[in-house]
Amino acid sequence: MKNIQSIRGMHDILPEHSPLWRWLEDQVSSTFAAYDFHEIRIPVLERTEVFTRAIGQATDVVEKEMYTFEDRNGELLSLRPEGTAGVVRSAIQHGLLHTPGLKVWYQGPMFRHERPQKGRQRQFHQFGAEVFGLDAAAADVELIALGERIWSRLGLTRGIRLEINTLGDREDRKRYRQRLVDYLLPRRDELDEDSLRRLETNPLRIFDSKHERTRAIMADAPRLIDEVGEEARAHFDEVCELLDRLGIEYTINPGLVRGLDYYCRTVFEWITDDLGAQGTVCAGGRYNDLVEMQGGKPTPGIGFAMGVERLLALLEAAGIEQSQLPHVFVVSRVPPADMLALAESLRAEAPDLRVAVALGGGSMKAQFKRADRSGARYCVVLGESEYQAGQASIKDLRAERGEQDMVNLDVLASRLQSLIAGEDAD
Ligand code: ATP
Ligand code: MG
Repeated sequence: MKNIQSIRGMHDILPEHSPLWRWLEDQVSSTFAAYDFHEIRIPVLERTEVFTRAIGQATDVVEKEMYTFEDRNGELLSLRPEGTAGVVRSAIQHGLLHTPGLKVWYQGPMFRHERPQKGRQRQFHQFGAEVFGLDAAAADVELIALGERIWSRLGLTRGIRLEINTLGDREDRKRYRQRLVDYLLPRRDELDEDSLRRLETNPLRIFDSKHERTRAIMADAPRLIDEVGEEARAHFDEVCELLDRLGIEYTINPGLVRGLDYYCRTVFEWITDDLGAQGTVCAGGRYNDLVEMQGGKPTPGIGFAMGVERLLALLEAAGIEQSQLPHVFVVSRVPPADMLALAESLRAEAPDLRVAVALGGGSMKAQFKRADRSGARYCVVLGESEYQAGQASIKDLRAERGEQDMVNLDVLASRLQSLIAGEDAD
């Protein structure tokens, strides 16, 4: 029989890779905490309308990328393609928006039926942050500063650049949309097929086209940033000024429009050139109308989402590695019950000690071989007579042959702990 394979574009995260994931998650979650963001965990499955209302019908995500199906009750459900819509649904449902200044973050898998390629999976992972109830430019800038702090904590201090733009307010976009259509209509014969369709449904999205001819036309198109009204303009100027004051470098990219419908005012992307075509590692923006669109009271919001797999690819390219080897490997000539009991006592006394045990037994030679292969630094040897006398020996597997240290069983855990602490300090 043929083996069953995972679904195309949905990858296993294997034990050799998970230490780097875990480390990344630790760095990111503690950075969120440092900015007073609180974690929210929401289901991966929602009613489809949660996404269609928020993201908008005429977007790639809703048009072609969602995993949508009817469940056994005939309800239309979708696997979440992104986090913001569900967070907004949850915040409205639980009344979280009554207090202004709610700051939440989330992480987890997202699902999009796209063509799998480097940096693009069908199940991928995001960290995201959302801030509600704050109009101030300072909120936009704190969120951008948070992104930059994450890069620096990860050691990715070079090669990720920031692009920002403003999409203005709803009226600005409406006015601009007409100007853009007026510009594009006489040039429609030169547009690619997708863009031609978007000309009717969502002309701003034509800026995202990858077709060269279309891109050339868009390069000369009127710019939304020139169309932005006074209030939104002042907001954007303040964002730029605050970024300058914090020393955060950026470029203004008038062609940055973002794929999802709900954005307004500030939008931004963190981009790297080190990953080829899929170079956006983090993207976000303001969404002052979204909460109302989802049925809540008008509440401003701003957020971002970062692609974990793309970050990991950057970490790997930078040679950043993490591993999780056992500290100690227990080899023994005593009965399994005694061996297990000793290992349990180590774990009870020293909860941070990573203890592997020669569960399969076998000759001492075979057990030592397994200890070597495990990558453990220390071996605990339980000989029969020593064990009866209340002793065991500790062997440093990186030292020259024969060096063993006999210790009493009642101090074994604390001895191992101080050896490991010394090693960590090296
Ligand atoms: P792209 O232009 O690359 O399709 P997007 O605009 O669809 O990106 P967002 O919805 O803004 O992406 O998602 C935020 C981030 O999530 C992206 O910048 C990227 O890092 C990551 N991401 C999005 N889609 C995928 C995917 N299919 N596989 C891996 N990462 C993804
Ligand atoms: Mg996309």
